[in-house]
Amino acid sequence: MRYISTRGEAPALGFEDVLLTGLAGDGGLYVPESLPHFSLEEIRSWRGLSYSELAFNVMHPFVDDAIPADDFRAMLDETYQKFSHTAVAPLVQLDCNEWVMELFRGPTLAFKDFALQLLGRLLDYVLEKRKQHVVIMGATSGDTGSAAIEGCRHCEHVDIFILHPHERVSEVQRRQMTTVLGDNIHNIAVRGNFDDCQRMVKESFGDQSFLGGKTQLAAVNSINWARIMAQIVYYFQASLALGGPDRSLAFSVPTGNFGDIFAGYLAKKMGLPISQLVIATNRNDILHRFMSGNKYEQHQLEHTLSPSMDIMVSSNFERLLFDLHGRDGAAVRDLLERAQQGPVSIEDYRWRNARKLFDSDAVDDRNTCDTIRQVYEQNEYLLDPHTAIGVRAARNCRRDASVPMVTLGTAHPAKFPDAIAEAGLSVKPQLPAHMADLFEREERCTVLDNDLAAVQSFMADHWKHA
Ligand SMILES: *Cc1c(COP(=O)(O)O)cnc(C)c1O
Repeated sequence: MRYISTRGEAPALGFEDVLLTGLAGDGGLYVPESLPHFSLEEIRSWRGLSYSELAFNVMHPFVDDAIPADDFRAMLDETYQKFSHTAVAPLVQLDCNEWVMELFRGPTLAFKDFALQLLGRLLDYVLEKRKQHVVIMGATSGDTGSAAIEGCRHCEHVDIFILHPHERVSEVQRRQMTTVLGDNIHNIAVRGNFDDCQRMVKESFGDQSFLGGKTQLAAVNSINWARIMAQIVYYFQASLALGGPDRSLAFSVPTGNFGDIFAGYLAKKMGLPISQLVIATNRNDILHRFMSGNKYEQHQLEHTLSPSMDIMVSSNFERLLFDLHGRDGAAVRDLLERAQQGPVSIEDYRWRNARKLFDSDAVDDRNTCDTIRQVYEQNEYLLDPHTAIGVRAARNCRRDASVPMVTLGTAHPAKFPDAIAEAGLSVKPQLPAHMADLFEREERCTVLDNDLAAVQSFMADHWKHA
């Protein structure tokens, strides 16, 4: 399988290189040159498979001969054994034909574990083969950092440095990162805000000379193709559990960077019957404004009760724009360059094409809280604020009540106790057993000034073979 850039100028790469690359050289994102397509008969034959067997069938065409089938199977078994429910992604019924797929049964209680647990293993496998080492550098305001650290903790060939804004992440989120002790795990609390952290990461990728040429930086954010790939699997799982592929399904997806929902779009293109995808955003609603009015325009960042969806631009949306423009990289490049200057639209027929599959909704904090409360009162089921946005949007946008609607449950409610309290509920969401002692565990973290040179010299001194 070859991968090409959405801006049409960077060279095509194979799976291994795409795994180790962040952005393409032309500023675009990598996508598969062509997608595998499964017949209904083939999908039907997957009923009853375990999650990791299903994952193998869905992902193998993307990995191709980069990893021998037996090794890849073993890697998937190991990855999904780490999840605390034997179904890996269990479904919970809220109402007639209305479901939540719990994607928060992994080690860090958010759906990002599905991809990052696998990504750590994929990276280590490929680096072992190539006798290479990489340094992962990332900035986090919460979920990504902990999932990335958990995913890389056992990697031999990876050091990971995660920057978070000092005293500005929740205690659960901080402890999920800082209590993972390992020689290759480095938490840096920066005396600054999230944007400062992100800027330092960006500048470091631009000039890696501080590493002395002995290793290179790698990215684990959702521009990495392998993350999208791993997220396609659970759409198939939901379908097979609810009568697919002989009936179609609708999904509502809490969305920030458009990674998770883009995976659903790919599942449909690969042959899975999906009749509707709902883009559920918080007040950072650039995608909702585009889908409802064909206007793509950056607004100021808002801080909400669903911080993992607080974004201004949605990086993976570029991957959809590429398809909407008939895979014309030059057209995407032109559109996104113009989008830097002000609002842009796409040709009406292209936008209408997208609207055949996608609907959207933006849900503010008050409606998020109302939904948490309502669902708790009706079902005694606690939603985290991100999932609540998905449920709300699903209810607002539903086209056909006879089609099962599945909201992706992206985080465990215990990660966001403040939102539960704000919803006026007195119940306290409990951390699952494997994390019950989180508040007693030893923490390891280095506090540094908001100074690029200080951060880079710390990194140069502390990666394993420095
Ligand atoms: C990352 C995250 C999201 C957004 O996912 P995207 O793939 O960026 O759209 C939603 N909910 C939670 C809990 C997350 O951690």
